[in-house]
Amino acid sequence: MGALETRFAVGGETLDAGRRGNPTLAPRVCGRIMSMKGRLLRLLGGLLREAEVVEVSTPGPSFRLLQLRVAGGGDVAWRPGDKVQVLLPSDDVRTYTPLWWGADGVTELLVYTHGDTPASRWVREVEVAARLRFVGPQRSLTMPPGPIVLIGDETSVAVAASYARARPGQVRAWLEVGEGVAVDGALAAAGLGGAHVVVRPPGTPRGEALARALPRLEGTVGITGAADLVQRVRAGLRQRGVGGIKTKAYWIEGRVGLD
Ligand SMILES: Cc1cc2nc3c(=O)[nH]c(=O)nc-3n(C[C@H](O)[C@H](O)[C@H](O)COP(=O)(O)OP(=O)(O)OC[C@H]3O[C@@H](n4cnc5c(N)ncnc54)[C@H](O)[C@@H]3O)c2cc1C
Repeated sequence: MGALETRFAVGGETLDAGRRGNPTLAPRVCGRIMSMKGRLLRLLGGLLREAEVVEVSTPGPSFRLLQLRVAGGGDVAWRPGDKVQVLLPSDDVRTYTPLWWGADGVTELLVYTHGDTPASRWVREVEVAARLRFVGPQRSLTMPPGPIVLIGDETSVAVAASYARARPGQVRAWLEVGEGVAVDGALAAAGLGGAHVVVRPPGTPRGEALARALPRLEGTVGITGAADLVQRVRAGLRQRGVGGIKTKAYWIEGRVGLD
């Protein structure tokens, strides 16, 4: 287990890196553990990088795009699919995927906002010149060279965009979004205009509509996003004989700050 990873008791099959949740672990307990992690990070300040918010935009009602200038961030070994763990002003720690990382230490995060949560509150209010601290970048979803298919949900726009920018013409993306979530602006802002979007009909399990919509896929498949979506889509693809699938759960219903 990495020094900064928070893990909980799990049962049954594991997902790659991200793990299935223990439904008996109360969200309040998870929340306390995550804030403890934040307070610990604050105490161990030396592990943290510092960044200044240099641009903020709202490419859709449910998305915020932050451009950050990272102090001394020019020589960072960033690769597509990497993550950063952001220490929020509330001492909560939440994980995001840089879209790209410039040689000048400038990078961008695309954050999906969904209700009254610590990250959503923070990112709706954050302004240019705000400072933030984070750990990373660290490896998260590593895909082999060559053509790939990335499948996920609203939280997966950034990871797909990071690979699409790094491998022009080699990345196809399929995303399932909730009904009423306007994702086109976020896709355009992230440079992922060619992504296929499937709307999840209300009341249906995550990943069901997406698994049905997927055509025959060429290249290695990576699935990220909600843990139940990841499991459902992976099971569907396996039934169709697709192997070598890489997965990473980004969040679990009822659990806070998964990573
Ligand atoms: C490696 C990695 C990379 C990630 N990259 C990104 C990224 O680039 N962009 C991005 O937007 N997210 C990304 N995420 C997901 C993000 O970290 C989580 O969604 C996180 O839980 C959001 O924190 P919060 O404070 O909003 O909600 P929390 O306080 O963590 O959770 C509160 C409640 O909201 C629910 N919840 C959490 N996320 C969602 C969601 N997406 N939709 C609906 N309900 C949710 C929880 O289950 C819980 O019930 C990534 C996660 C990981 C592990």
